[in-house]
Amino acid sequence: MRPTDDTYRHKGLRKKLTAGIREKGITDERVLNAINEIPRHFFLDSAFDEAAYADRAFPIGEGQTISQPYTVAYQSQLLEVKPFDKVLEIGTGSAYQAVLLAQMGAQVYTIERQKKLFELNKKFEYLRKFPNIKFFYGDGFEGLPTYAPFDKILITAAAPEVPPKLVEQLKTGGMMVLPVGSGEVQRMMRITKLQNSAIKEEVFDHFSFVPMLEGKK
Ligand code: SAH
Repeated sequence: MRPTDDTYRHKGLRKKLTAGIREKGITDERVLNAINEIPRHFFLDSAFDEAAYADRAFPIGEGQTISQPYTVAYQSQLLEVKPFDKVLEIGTGSAYQAVLLAQMGAQVYTIERQKKLFELNKKFEYLRKFPNIKFFYGDGFEGLPTYAPFDKILITAAAPEVPPKLVEQLKTGGMMVLPVGSGEVQRMMRITKLQNSAIKEEVFDHFSFVPMLEGKK
């Protein structure tokens, strides 16, 4: 069962989590505010109520995880999300990251390749509060050509390399944040699409994500 009650105790735990993430170096107030607002325990079974506010990744079934809050904050900060940004997310998973982007005012398009996880989110009542998120079942390597171009693209699974079709679907001046690497540990990267489709690449810290896989399941 999914919890639907956000108690004072939960709010207290969340405040501590937010303070911890600030201490780890996240400075974007809009990101911190969203972490403080979103009841992360709604995204996990009620058996894991307490674990929801530890700064850790957590299994959500189908061999997938809800990313560590610090990692979610780190990627969101690099993405420099502004209200009304049109953002494509690859790897919906629990939908926690999608909700965080929506809470920051973005128009979110999110893709999940696993049917079971996609179906689970259809039944997740809390998501109805966010009409600015659109959910898609598909292969993130293909992106969403019908809805392109996007201001921002966020990949929440480890990409073996920068997916070329996603670069195409980025606006000029747009940015993509993604972990790149095919081993256990990947490097966070930020790609900025410049005039004449030139690309600026920046490399950040090491992280460990589940792999981005081809095709649907
Ligand atoms: N953003 C998620 C993180 C989930 S983990 C959250 O906040 O919970 C990464 C997710 O990416 C998994 O659900 C996995 O199934 C999905 N994924 C992996 N490869 C994909 C692809 N090619 N297209 C879409 N989703 C993919």
